[in-house]
Amino acid sequence: MGKPSRIHPPLGPDNAWWWEQVAHGKLPIQRCSSCGKLRHPPRPMCDACRSMLWDFIEASGRGALHSFTVIHHPQFPGYEYPIVIALVDLEEGERMLSQLVDCERDAVRIGMPLVARIHEDPDGFKLPVFRSAL
Ligand code: ZN
Repeated sequence: MGKPSRIHPPLGPDNAWWWEQVAHGKLPIQRCSSCGKLRHPPRPMCDACRSMLWDFIEASGRGALHSFTVIHHPQFPGYEYPIVIALVDLEEGERMLSQLVDCERDAVRIGMPLVARIHEDPDGFKLPVFRSAL
């Protein structure tokens, strides 16, 4: 039996497209087709104009650290601890919850510039993570 893998997100009609784009190496942000407002995480209706029509843009991957927390416990198989969970202000104006990688805990600073990359787990699952752009 192999090493346990990360817990995969449940996929439904409102979010599966987002993970499919990530699997293709993109970092998408949903956009209302009626008023152009961006929204993340994906959801069926625009909170500005109530339109159900949408498309998406590809984010630049650049942003800044808005806030973070460090997870030590509980520890699940398939993860390496501690995990720095980052709330990222994307330069497009949306916020995204992700993981900060390749950064020592003591070097984490609110406001630090970040850049995204698509990480691939050994089982092929892909997800966006962020690292310092300094
Ligand atoms: Zn709208």
